[in-house]
Amino acid sequence: MNATAVESIEPVAAKPAATNPLRLVCRSMREKRSLVQVGTACFGGPQPVVIAGPCSVESYEQTRLAADAVKAAGAGVLRGGAFKPRTSPYDFQGLGVEGLEILARIRHETGLPVVSEVMSTDDIDIVAGHVDMLQVGARNMQNFALLRRLSKCDRPILLKRGPASTVKEWLLAAEYLLAGGNDQVVLCERGVRSYDPELRNTFDLAGMALARQLTHLPVIADPSHATGRRDLIRSMSRAALAAGADGLMIEIHPQPSAALSDADQALDLASFSLVMDDAAAISAL
Ligand code: PEP
Ligand code: MN
Repeated sequence: MNATAVESIEPVAAKPAATNPLRLVCRSMREKRSLVQVGTACFGGPQPVVIAGPCSVESYEQTRLAADAVKAAGAGVLRGGAFKPRTSPYDFQGLGVEGLEILARIRHETGLPVVSEVMSTDDIDIVAGHVDMLQVGARNMQNFALLRRLSKCDRPILLKRGPASTVKEWLLAAEYLLAGGNDQVVLCERGVRSYDPELRNTFDLAGMALARQLTHLPVIADPSHATGRRDLIRSMSRAALAAGADGLMIEIHPQPSAALSDADQALDLASFSLVMDDAAAISAL
């Protein structure tokens, strides 16, 4: 539908006020929910898109095995961290540019679109040169210098929710991207800080559903970081999809116990295919 037709359908009173801080991301801004195309995958359409891959790119072999499982199971996008935000400076920090090169090679070999995190404005060009979508990690959700620069980038952005951010703060971070000119944004709920040490985070399913009501942008869920436990990934994936998530982001590893980061939440490749079976069954409902 062209812009003139939208004008005539939408009453002037329903338009977002110029004073609304969420004026570009709010649901009433667009007649339809937004679609975000990432290579062959389309977020926000009728089919949920699953992003899967290792927390960190550790080697070509490890990432390629994961990518083959992603493709075989029918997931849409490969993930893999090259620049890793680690709580301890002594933990594995990622392979950096070598990790990006591995991702670019596997992207070329498999045809899978790839998402990877960018932590610094200094790295935007190199990350964008190797992958299809740039991830803003939870810890950087309110890194406004990074958001401003990414708003001028021609790549889609996966914006994770900060571990202590309200839904409104998360949407305002997305507003920075749209205000600067980049409306190719997918939001990702990944759990918020709570009090139970048995769970890495608390999966805020209601916050995800609320965000999806408030914005036209696609909203996906990351049950891996939201729980920190591989035994909860399958049930929380089902819950997220049943609650309307536009997709999932799941960490997988060919040998989970040997993963250099987030080993406790990594699914083995066979378990991942069960999550994909569930996703297909729920989409068919
Ligand atoms: C990740 O996706 O590997 C990651 C570090 O996630 P988050 O920023 O949500 O902690
Ligand atoms: Mn991780």
